[in-house]
Amino acid sequence: MRVLLYGGSFNPPHLGHVDALRAAAEALCPQEILVIPASIPPHKQMADGSPAPEERLRLCRLAFASVPGAAVSDLEMRREGKSYTVDTLREISAKKPGAELYFLVGTDMLSSMELWYEFREIFSLCTLAALPRNEGEETALSAQADALREKYGARIVLIPKAPLPMDSTSLRSSLCDRLGRERLPEEVYGEIIRRRYYGAKPDLAWLREKAYAWLKPRRIPHVRGCEQEAVRLAAVWNEDAGEAAEAAILHDITKKLSYEEQLQLMEKYDIMSDAAELSEPKLLHARTGACVARELFGVSDRVFGAIEWHTTGRPGMSVLEEIIYLADFTEPTRDFPGLEKVRALTDRSLRQAMIEALRLSMQEVRSRGAEPHSRSEKTLEWLLETEE
Ligand code: FE
Ligand code: FE
Repeated sequence: MRVLLYGGSFNPPHLGHVDALRAAAEALCPQEILVIPASIPPHKQMADGSPAPEERLRLCRLAFASVPGAAVSDLEMRREGKSYTVDTLREISAKKPGAELYFLVGTDMLSSMELWYEFREIFSLCTLAALPRNEGEETALSAQADALREKYGARIVLIPKAPLPMDSTSLRSSLCDRLGRERLPEEVYGEIIRRRYYGAKPDLAWLREKAYAWLKPRRIPHVRGCEQEAVRLAAVWNEDAGEAAEAAILHDITKKLSYEEQLQLMEKYDIMSDAAELSEPKLLHARTGACVARELFGVSDRVFGAIEWHTTGRPGMSVLEEIIYLADFTEPTRDFPGLEKVRALTDRSLRQAMIEALRLSMQEVRSRGAEPHSRSEKTLEWLLETEE
């Protein structure tokens, strides 16, 4: 029986890995494929924000689900202390007597084989399946394979393949710049963003796509306008434009949900509320939206607050919270009496613009015969007290 083994730190598992495994599986036609994420790779420390071992195992399961017959094993992660390939190979050959083991390695690994712990034993336990990582490496790879065969009697097969050049280090840093999505399986990307591993920030086009799926189509222009205005205000007021965009894109994510669904979410997320809020369904979506945005997209506390308080404001609100409140109020598709004054103020004083916007919005509530939420009243008091 042929067993193909693929070890690595998979931090994170990306399309280069998936592609490599698929190519090796096609070339070798193994009866069994085992992906074995390392717990602590002997030769490197884990990057900042890396998922815990069991979380990385889950990412691998998501990533390699598309390779027929591939299973992800926690064999190395269960092992105490440092994890060596030779131990893994010993363990598997003991479990599967008579199995022909193929161990998949990239060019970089093949060139450092002689530094591996008990590498001679590795050669005796398995055939190395070597794969070029970058364009033009085939010749070097083939020469290295020859040298190892000659020197140690190593068994090595070369996997013919047009490589997808990708390295995890550059991928992780791309993720912090809202890039790199195309290098990851969709589900892995979603999970990395949800948990914000490596300090990853979402690609905004991806976030829009995900968020808009929650909206009624007619609300999309509003959300789009809110994002534009939030990003513009972030530039004016020296705030993080990416966070402003995230908050704006997600601010109305639960707006479409019914009152009953809002109440269910209030319960699910254990959101403290008051009678006034519960009697005004329009207010609930800000509270539930923040929780959904955090659960699905891992938004920061700052973005969470900006979504949470976008309908009433709150005393002590942050600059980002004011920006989202005002962008929601003044975005280009809005049109009502008094709006121009608020728009003009947003560039001069956020505080003045907030005061004007809150007054208008409370007036509007009263004109419907209702009472503005007390949090809005308190916010207005706070704004007036702290006005420069
Ligand atoms: Fe809203
Ligand atoms: Fe809105």
